[in-house]
Amino acid sequence: MNTRQPRKCVALLSGGLDSKLAIRIMQEQGIEVEALNFKTVFTCCQDMSAQAAHELGVRLTVLTQEDDYLPIIEEPRFGYGKGANPCVDCRIYMFQKAKNFMEEIGADFIVSGEVIGQRPMSQKRKDLDVISYHSDLEDLLLRPLSAKMLPPTLPEREGWVDRSKLYGFCGRSRKGLIELAHQLGIEDIPTPSTGCSLTEPQFARKVFDLIQIAPHRTRWDYELLKVGRHFRFDEQTKVILGRNESENTQLEYAFQLPDAPACELLEPENFLGPTALVTGRSSPEVRTFAGGLILRYTRRTPENETPTVRVTSSDGTTMIEARETVQSREARLITETEFEKAGARRC
Ligand code: SF4
Repeated sequence: MNTRQPRKCVALLSGGLDSKLAIRIMQEQGIEVEALNFKTVFTCCQDMSAQAAHELGVRLTVLTQEDDYLPIIEEPRFGYGKGANPCVDCRIYMFQKAKNFMEEIGADFIVSGEVIGQRPMSQKRKDLDVISYHSDLEDLLLRPLSAKMLPPTLPEREGWVDRSKLYGFCGRSRKGLIELAHQLGIEDIPTPSTGCSLTEPQFARKVFDLIQIAPHRTRWDYELLKVGRHFRFDEQTKVILGRNESENTQLEYAFQLPDAPACELLEPENFLGPTALVTGRSSPEVRTFAGGLILRYTRRTPENETPTVRVTSSDGTTMIEARETVQSREARLITETEFEKAGARRC
């Protein structure tokens, strides 16, 4: 007779193969699973996690990252990966939140799909120990896919989970994981992706530029990194240009938000072209620069009229003539920053 008490765990679910497998392994052992997904300003895998939760038949809670996440990006204790991704610090943050959630719902332990050595940052053996330790979870954090390569955790020692039915995966190959997915009846095998813009080099440059230049940056500034082409005018001022209608609307929306800092919106008045948002300190020179950028990214200007741009700020609305200048013609996208040249601290 099986006298084991049914136990409950919280499983981090990104929607990727590893987290799906970790959940299915727990289900095979009769453990009740509550799935948890984190939404940060920079991630976009909620649809994947919702679909995965549905497929696995588990309840999903999505936690949104709070402003206390931003210092992690600005000064990560354990450094950056290839981009601006502070993965070890980020995982610690997520597991701390997961621990709170576990206590709130009366679950017994946490499960994650991490595999030793699978990701260059955050899944090296040493990183897994650092993450368990600094999230205060220690041996309440079970990684079923690599458990046999790690010391037994409390759920294994107490017999809540049968260690003999866990796995010893290690390294980057997905072959064994895919075979296991077939054995466990997981049909939908997602392609690997972090779904996190912080890992993308082009995006990372905008992050480092912001960290370096804007001391009073807020979540509003970070949200804007996902929108448009970014040009730096000087140390205080940046111009963001929409790349399509949707981004033009997003810039307009950001401009109107109650928590938006002082900024200006520039829109073509008598021709079709991108919207520009000026963040930081503006001046007649900045407006001329932004107007010139609008022209530079406009296919057709009015034939018999002077192209005009409407400038809206907290002081009201004015019109300026749009004309190309040497500076706007030669303006470069933010592609490299002093912060990067100085070698942002890598892990
Ligand atoms: S890839 Fe992004 S979301 Fe994932 S751990 Fe790294 S920083 Fe966090």
